[in-house]
This record gives sequence, structure tokens and C-alpha cells, in this order.
Amino acid sequence: MATFYFTLRVTPTSSNRHADEVEGALASCWVCDDDPQIALTRGCLIIEQYDWDIIDVEDPPVVTTEENFIGKDIGLENYKIAQEYGISMVFGGWAKDRKSSYGPVKLERSDSYNLNTYLSEIKNLSKKGRCLHYDAGGRCSKIINAHSIQKQGALSLIAGEGEVYAISRNFSDIVRSPRTATFTKQGINTVSTFRGFCEDHDNELFEPIDKYMFSSTKQQILLYAYRSLCRELFVKENALALWESCYERHKNHNCLKDTFNNLRVATEFGLKNLLLHKDKLDSCLKIQSYPEIKYVIFCTNQQPSVVFSGLFYPDFDFLGRPLQDLSDHSRNLDLLTFCFVPMDKGWGILFAWHIESSDTCVPFMQSLASRICEDNCIGDHLFRMVISCCENLAIQPTWWESLKKKEREDITNAACHDGADMLSPIKYDYLAKGLENISEWHFENAITDME
Ligand SMILES: [Zn+2]
Repeated sequence: MATFYFTLRVTPTSSNRHADEVEGALASCWVCDDDPQIALTRGCLIIEQYDWDIIDVEDPPVVTTEENFIGKDIGLENYKIAQEYGISMVFGGWAKDRKSSYGPVKLERSDSYNLNTYLSEIKNLSKKGRCLHYDAGGRCSKIINAHSIQKQGALSLIAGEGEVYAISRNFSDIVRSPRTATFTKQGINTVSTFRGFCEDHDNELFEPIDKYMFSSTKQQILLYAYRSLCRELFVKENALALWESCYERHKNHNCLKDTFNNLRVATEFGLKNLLLHKDKLDSCLKIQSYPEIKYVIFCTNQQPSVVFSGLFYPDFDFLGRPLQDLSDHSRNLDLLTFCFVPMDKGWGILFAWHIESSDTCVPFMQSLASRICEDNCIGDHLFRMVISCCENLAIQPTWWESLKKKEREDITNAACHDGADMLSPIKYDYLAKGLENISEWHFENAITDME
């Protein structure tokens, strides 16, 4: 990873505590990243959290090494901080009265940050909630915090004292370090919840999977897929609002507007496709007819260590071969959902898709079969996929704490999370290798209706 150095011309916002005395400043930034444009974006997002407006890019990002800063105390110090934390910055300000001078001041993040930035918008949207049930309407009065991973039967199976490890949703963690997730201990009452259903619809629709053990009925399979899809839809709608707001705020900045516009357009495209897939599942649910739902379930008698509910547009298979080009906005994307399911003995990974996504999902599953023939390590392949493709997961505390430090680091580095899909290019072989010999997952059999 490269270390980019750049400077930005900034002014304090009215809520900045230095607004009275400081007219402007040059912010020198050291950011570790592979891409100069993304490094610049990350620097800008951090600066805004400290209540500064970005006026212009004074010096664009250039790749630097430690040698560039030999003999420059502040430069060298910040270069080293960036190596440790991924980002570092120093502001050199000038006083409004052009006379006063101040010594070094440690800048503090504004208390009003949550109120006056894009985050407040997202928070309001997440809190407000809306019912995504196919028959939503007048009777959806009480929106609840619906679990996208079951509390009973999944989260409670792996929890220790009511807690599990899950990926931090703290936006600062994501911006500071967009390539690695941060796992923190969280209560199972809040993990995986989203305000995407009203109480009546949630209880009624998901009763067959919340109240009954999974027995591979097509209705249950569809309901797992549907819940996973609705949760993603909810998250992506919020993400689109975030990038739209960022774009609006920066559309006069030549350097930033393109980045935010790209993020906005990519999210919009992903969301448009989610809505198309939701329509298909809505139709199946409405008429209670499920022949268009295809599935594969891998079953194990083991105790679970990770529970999850996710989906993705498969872009590369388990052999590293391309399946569909996610940047080609001229065609619709095929979608694959995958969920943890509790079973009579042990648990299973349920893959489910609508038949119209078979062109991608069938070759995807076939590539997994090829890998299993080759090395018989199905557990490693599925574990790698769950970690890389699903940010909506929870890990058993005793298992996580029993891992070696290096194993936890490898999982953290491979883990997907909000924002990562937007800010990081995908490597073609991300499902082909990595995270071997960690999970100790073994699957005894598979159930499918694939021809
Ligand atoms: Zn409802």
C-alpha cells in the first residue's frame, strides 16, 4: 500500500471552535491507500468531521516514502503515524487579524458533528424506518427493530452473556480504515437489526422460519432470502442518501465531485437491481408459489461459530473466473442470497436465488463443486465466502477469543463491511484463496433442487 501526501486549503465552519480566530488553514495529509483519489476522499471526510470546509486541493496526492521526510520533524512524525493508523494530518492555520500567533493545538472533533453532517441524515432515515413487506400500506403502524439474523435460534446459539462479536457500524472507523473491518462485542438485541418491517408484518410473514425449525421447505427458503434482501435494500437506500448528500456538498470541488458521483451512481445501480429482485420475490410470496426459487443447502452437525445473513452479486467464482461485470450498468445483475439456518442437528448454509439469476448462480455453485473435488476443503471455501461477502454476521465470543492473533487479523482484513465495497476495488481471486485452516467447518451433505 502506498503513502500519499497532499495538502488541502480549508476554512473553519461556523461551529468550529477556532472559527473566531482562524481565517483559514492548509491541511497536510498522509494517507495510506492504493488509490490517490480514494486517499484524497478519505482525507476530506476526516477533515469535515473536525468542522472544516474544504476550499480546494492545494497539492494533489503524490506517493511518498520515509526518505522524503528525512530531516523534516513534523513530516517524518506524521509519515510514521500514518503507517500505524492509516492516516495522519496537520493543519497550519493563519489568524483572522493577521497578527496573532498560536502554538501547536490538538484539534478536537466537534460535538455538533452528528447534528450538522450527512450522518444525521442517515441516522434519521435509519431511525424512521419503513415497512418493506410486499403488502405494506395503511396497517403498517408500528415499525420495529427487526432482526435480519434470528435472535432465537441463531444469535442466542453463539452468544456469551448476551453478546457476540460483530462489525462496528461506527462511520469514523470505516472512513479511517476503509479496507479493514473492526469487530467489537455487541449485544444480541441490536446486532443485525434494521427498521424495515412493521411488527404485524414481521411476525406474520416470518413465522414459518422464526417459530419453526428449518426443514428445507421452499417457503422457508424464500423467506430467508427475502429477509436478507429487505435488509440489504434498507441499508443501500441509506447509503445512497449518504453519497447523494456528499455529492451535493462537494459538487463545486473538482477533485471530490467525481469520486462522490461515482459512489452515488454505483450505489444507485446496486439499489435499482435490488428493487428488481425484490419485485420477483414479492410476486412469489403474493401467490405463495415457489418453483422459481432455487437453492443449495450445505448441512453440518457441528456447533455454529458464526451466524450470518447476506447476499451479493457474484462477480468472480471460486476459481477466480469472472461471472458478471458489476461496472457494466447496461445490464441487470444476478443476485445470490446466503443465510445461516439452524437445523435439527447442527446448522446449514442456505444459498437461494430466483431462477432468473441462474445464469450466474449455477456456474458459481459449480465452481464450488470443482474446488471441493480438487481439495475436499468445502469448509474453508464457504468460510472465506461468508467472511468476504457478508458484513451482516456475528461471531461466537469464545471461538473468536480462542483464535491466534494472526488468524483474527486475517479475518479482519478479509471481512467485508459497509463502505468497503464502494471504496475498494475487488480482487479477482478473493473467493479462490485465503483464510484456510481457521474455521474447522465440515459439511456432511448437501440438499439442492439444482438440475
Ligand atoms: Zn407492514
